[in-house]
Amino acid sequence: MSLNLPALFQKIGEGTLDTLFPIRCLGCDTYQDFLCETCLDFFPRRLRQRCPTCLKAVTPRGEVCFSCLGKNSLDGLFAAGHYRDPLISEAVHTYKYRFIPAIAEPLGKWLSARSLEADLLLPDLYIPVPLHPRRLRFRGFNQAELLAEALAKAFAPELNLPVLKNCLLRTRYTKSQMKTRSREERLGNLKNAFIFTRENVSFIKGKNVWLIDDVATTGVTLEECARVLKSAGAKSVFGIVLAR
Ligand SMILES: [Zn+2]
Ligand SMILES: [Zn+2]
Repeated sequence: MSLNLPALFQKIGEGTLDTLFPIRCLGCDTYQDFLCETCLDFFPRRLRQRCPTCLKAVTPRGEVCFSCLGKNSLDGLFAAGHYRDPLISEAVHTYKYRFIPAIAEPLGKWLSARSLEADLLLPDLYIPVPLHPRRLRFRGFNQAELLAEALAKAFAPELNLPVLKNCLLRTRYTKSQMKTRSREERLGNLKNAFIFTRENVSFIKGKNVWLIDDVATTGVTLEECARVLKSAGAKSVFGIVLAR
């Protein structure tokens, strides 16, 4: 049996480490939450959204621009913040690479507030971008899945929209997208990396999907997932991420 360090840290973290290292806000360092309400309010937001296909044209909600219509599967990409912003990249980094799943809650709340502000069209359901099982075992949680659940809880909770987990499977273990160089390399890296599990077809036929991930770099991961979801019958697929 291999030792699962992140899961072990999380277990310890729930007990002893809380008293040894109490939870501090990443923004203001006060002891209360990983991101306190005040800091969340000032959390830097992205003011302009761009077409996810050409990455150039500015569109109101991140929809595909007129000249890119029909070229790709993703219908739009809404990014709430800029990844180059130090507070956002630190929050995402702490969440993912220091294995602190509790940060999903404030980040999901923040993402929900930004999505409401942007007046995005309501989805029928949320689908998180999957992790490869090997990476999932190592990390102990899928950051996109927890984020989707936190977003669903904060965004239109009265509608009770489902978070459809495990309907997309990641079949290829790929290099981290951060470490691959060009968009072409990323595309090659991810070609056919996802499949749709057949028993879920009835759930997504004709549905408007919000595809959730923590960060988008070039949008290639989201595009690949969108392509698979569309061929399974989804009506529209809109990417929703914390930052890009
Ligand atoms: Zn704070
Ligand atoms: Zn475009």
